[in-house]
Amino acid sequence: MSALDLLYVDASLGEEERQIRAVVRQVVDDWVRPHVAGWYEDGQVPARELAREFGKLGLLGMHLTGYGCAGASAVAYGLACLELEAGDSGVRSLVSVQGSLAMYAIWRYGSEEQKQRWLPAMAAGEAIGCFGLTEPDHGSDPASMTTRARRDGDDWILNGTKMWITNAPIADVGVIWARTDDRVRGFAVPMDTPGVTAREIRHKMSLRASLTGEVVLDDVRLPADARLPEAIGLKAPLSCLTEARHGIVWGALGAARDCLETALSYATTRTQFGRPLAGFQLTQAKLADMAVEWNKGLLLALHLGRLADAGKLRPEQVSVGKLNNVREALAIARQCRTILGANGISGEYPVMRHANNLESVLTYEGTSEIHQLVIGQRLTGLSAFA
Ligand SMILES: Cc1cc2nc3c(=O)[nH]c(=O)nc-3n(C[C@H](O)[C@H](O)[C@H](O)COP(=O)(O)OP(=O)(O)OC[C@H]3O[C@@H](n4cnc5c(N)ncnc54)[C@H](O)[C@@H]3O)c2cc1C
Repeated sequence: MSALDLLYVDASLGEEERQIRAVVRQVVDDWVRPHVAGWYEDGQVPARELAREFGKLGLLGMHLTGYGCAGASAVAYGLACLELEAGDSGVRSLVSVQGSLAMYAIWRYGSEEQKQRWLPAMAAGEAIGCFGLTEPDHGSDPASMTTRARRDGDDWILNGTKMWITNAPIADVGVIWARTDDRVRGFAVPMDTPGVTAREIRHKMSLRASLTGEVVLDDVRLPADARLPEAIGLKAPLSCLTEARHGIVWGALGAARDCLETALSYATTRTQFGRPLAGFQLTQAKLADMAVEWNKGLLLALHLGRLADAGKLRPEQVSVGKLNNVREALAIARQCRTILGANGISGEYPVMRHANNLESVLTYEGTSEIHQLVIGQRLTGLSAFA
């Protein structure tokens, strides 16, 4: 058992949950850890190869059932996210966007034909999906989106721009949200359709081992059956975000764990003033406070995961988890960075990479402020959004 598991949370996991965690930890050790610093530095990641490898292990859409998906529990999915993000938040993002956003949208709202066409290939990692909600001028407020879908006979014509779309540069299918005369609707868009272009966004200082793109839709003609028939209104994409945010509640703890383990190991071996850094009371205070927050975060994640498995998880409860766990993970990463001193800023250690990544995780899938507003609305009955 890890020294970090102060509260013996491990003991409350089932055998299958522990096994899945061990498998994902191993694949991260084999496929991610040896290379990720280089990917990050180069701003590149072999996303297709990783997706195929993750597909073989059943990690893509693993909490969904049928169509080649593993049908694992929400807790098992959360543990997988934690282990993936202990490798890198960008690698976890690849899996989250594929499974919880793109696949979930098709699985939950698609026609039988759309499910058969896309889900088995996506579960196997042979087809990559992206999820286009955010626009250049509409991020926290997707209700104001300007991407439009209009009818032309039986066909749909899509026009607009989606921004900051994970996986877009290599995606085979994009779940694109657009305004129609009849509310917001979702479309499964083959990314090779004429009029679709996906440009990679470069010069990111965060999530560099993840592919992010701008998707331009210029008079994109789609057949009638490209529309996800059951997705009606903004609540459809928001329900997909709730799925993905649950994974982030766990994932952020993975990045924090990797930082804490690095800092613990560093502090016990690095000597200053004739003794290990870990022997100083100030260092121990930092380590103790971080371990307390990490364990609280894990209990919170486990509680939310069990609620999800019981079919009782509410969106504002996921907001509690996303707000707390990402905020605390980022605080832990920054604090661990101080323990490593100058080495803390080096790519030789994972800490600064995790800290930089967590800046994106703090912003995507609802910023901290938006989650505060969701919780505030629940507490007061008043919406402060508009
Ligand atoms: C690396 C990365 C990957 C992403 N991947 C995807 C993806 O795959 N698909 C997708 O659709 N999107 C994706 N996003 C976009 C992400 O979801 C948005 O960035 C996020 O929703 C915030 O929108 P914004 O950046 O436009 O910020 P804005 O909405 O402009 O917000 C800017 C600041 O203002 C604050 N703010 C906004 N409204 C209020 C308010 N009412 N009260 C108080 N404060 C407020 C925000 O909290 C934030 O601090 C990604 C983003 C990043 C960085």
